[in-house]
Amino acid sequence: MKTLTTMLEELSSGAVTSEALARAALDCAKANASDNAFVSLDEEGAMEAARASDARRAAGKATGALDGVPVAVKDNILAKGQLCTCGSKILENFVAPYDATAVARLREAGAVIVGKTNMDEFAMGSTSETSASGAVTNPRWPDRIPGGSSGGSAAAVARGTVAAALGSDTGGSIRQPAACCGVVGFKPTYGRVSRWGLVAYASSLDQIGPVAACVEDAARVYDAIAGHDAHDSTSADRPAEPTLPDLKNGSAKVRIGVPRECFGEGVDDEMRQTLQKALDDLKAEGAELVDVSLPSLKHAIASYYIIATAEASANLSRFDGVRYGHRSAEAKDLESLYRKSRSEGFGAEVRRRILLGTYVLSSGYYDAYYMQAQKVRRLVADDFEKAFGSCDLIATPVLPGAPMKRGQGLQDPLAMYLTDVFTVSLNLTGLPGVSVPVGTCGGSSAGLQLIAPSFEEKRLLQCAWRMERLRL
Ligand code: GLN
Repeated sequence: MKTLTTMLEELSSGAVTSEALARAALDCAKANASDNAFVSLDEEGAMEAARASDARRAAGKATGALDGVPVAVKDNILAKGQLCTCGSKILENFVAPYDATAVARLREAGAVIVGKTNMDEFAMGSTSETSASGAVTNPRWPDRIPGGSSGGSAAAVARGTVAAALGSDTGGSIRQPAACCGVVGFKPTYGRVSRWGLVAYASSLDQIGPVAACVEDAARVYDAIAGHDAHDSTSADRPAEPTLPDLKNGSAKVRIGVPRECFGEGVDDEMRQTLQKALDDLKAEGAELVDVSLPSLKHAIASYYIIATAEASANLSRFDGVRYGHRSAEAKDLESLYRKSRSEGFGAEVRRRILLGTYVLSSGYYDAYYMQAQKVRRLVADDFEKAFGSCDLIATPVLPGAPMKRGQGLQDPLAMYLTDVFTVSLNLTGLPGVSVPVGTCGGSSAGLQLIAPSFEEKRLLQCAWRMERLRL
């Protein structure tokens, strides 16, 4: 798998052209079309951008930090002029009218966007099996799910089609597919990357970030897309410190909190051993492992699935068959237009979420569910704050066991929701987290999640880089 770092070196030495890299990425995507990693490719746009990059280099003009490298973008993030389906029939013909800020920043850095990656419908899922474009295949462990919802981004990176892709993470959708496909997934602090142009699932939880071949590549993409954006009112108005310059200079003497709730009951033995070995290796290098506790974690899944579905039910009310997206041909009046367009356009999992979300927000149930969930959210945040009083970073599994077999999550949605146990708390609290592949579990991959206090992305990636290097 060629990394962004290698490609950038080869581009600047003249060993390769951007045009050749873009052509190779497009050919690879087409040759592996049965992976279903892509919803659409932008051959013309990519080749044009690649040639422009080559021309900039040839003329000795200034180049951006990602100049000439092919990347991909999850299909719920707008890229002007390209389809943006969100893996849903309801948006099957929707063409993005503008660039999301994260996409615009990738282009400004010179990156070449080759296509849009497949995903669970509206990012609701952990298996990438609910897309209207078909299920995504895990290129490395084909009997296992690629994880979701950014499964297309992780599969495209694991296949080597691109070295990096944008994903979105509402409850684990960057970190989980990365763990399932054996690549790196990084969810920055809430508000650190603009959500402008990301089709909203649950606005108080959603965050864009990179899935990448290695930590250094994730840092490169993150540095390009992070920072304040006036278009997004929840964007953090503070300077984004670049992570790349000091990536390899982090101290080995970090204090890593190991929450006892995350390595006990409910976690597969082999997963526990694999992760423990990775942590012990860091310890041998100088890290200190600190016992910490997150007592409210056991309520995080319940809180998350109430808040996420509540927000989704409101966000998805905009798909009404009137302004954009699928419009039923059967409609006779306005009400049946709404009803039929939505019933025909949304898949089963999305309908289930809308029903759940509408229920928890309905009068009489609002206090019992939604308000209660918000209180739990506060408790989870308090737990993390307390834990960070005695450590610099926290380590947990990404998944409690090996990735599910294909089809398992479709048959048992509750079992699928429960696999989110270690990822959703970072969205409830807004904390940044990175998933690093550290070994195997059940014959497939095991990912370790490192978590930092808000806006400590640099510290987080420095430790992730050390962790990765110990494995190479
Ligand atoms: N699996 C979680 C859900 O289905 C998270 C999805 C995501 O992060 N977009 O809601």
